[in-house]
Amino acid sequence: MRIGVFSDIHGNLEALEIVLNAIQNESIDQVICTGDLVGYGPDPNPCVERTLAFADIIVAGNHDHGAAGVIDIENFNKAARHAIEWTQSELTTETKQALIQLPMIMVGPDITIVHATPDEPEKWIYMATYGDIYHSFDALTTRLCLVGHSHTPTVFGLNNENQISINQEKKVSLEENISYIINVGSVGQPRDDDPRTCYGILDLDKQEFEIKRLKYPIEKVQEKMKKKNLPSSLIERLAIGK
Ligand code: ZN
Repeated sequence: MRIGVFSDIHGNLEALEIVLNAIQNESIDQVICTGDLVGYGPDPNPCVERTLAFADIIVAGNHDHGAAGVIDIENFNKAARHAIEWTQSELTTETKQALIQLPMIMVGPDITIVHATPDEPEKWIYMATYGDIYHSFDALTTRLCLVGHSHTPTVFGLNNENQISINQEKKVSLEENISYIINVGSVGQPRDDDPRTCYGILDLDKQEFEIKRLKYPIEKVQEKMKKKNLPSSLIERLAIGK
């Protein structure tokens, strides 16, 4: 079983198209999206439509629920709030409804899927401290968990002795007695100093997770954002991957 995983598209259609084409060319059994289809970028509606048509499982991100009016956007920073308000005005009734209906968390027999953390998904916590990481592992009922939210591809591990490992290599072998929380990075706004778009392949037979990076036409997205008067800080960060 090979699972294609992508996350945090943020209205970036050029990056999404590259990722979906690449996933289509892999031999994949299932496609999972860990949320934030909209926010920041210039193409919210097509990104929602393409993701709904392509992914087997999609969970809600904070930007999805912010744009759909499910949650308050007071805690978003100024640029993010501006982009969310613009997104709210762009969404069609169909795409808004689709975002409202996205589940917060999906717990399967083998894998948990959530945008932020499995312990308190509605708090949109970043796994920034060891405390956050322990709390996340504590809440898991499955050995594997797929997340998004930080826009930084990372594989967190917890072994039988309660030791945490943090791995940001491109390919990670998954060991039998270790639980994993896997962040697949961001399609539409990478923040790990690599501006290329990304997706992941979780191979359950090989017990391996691999991050793949691809170039996409960043300037084209930046031009669209300028035309739509989206904040310049959001336009500039795409080129540097921050
Ligand atoms: Zn995001």
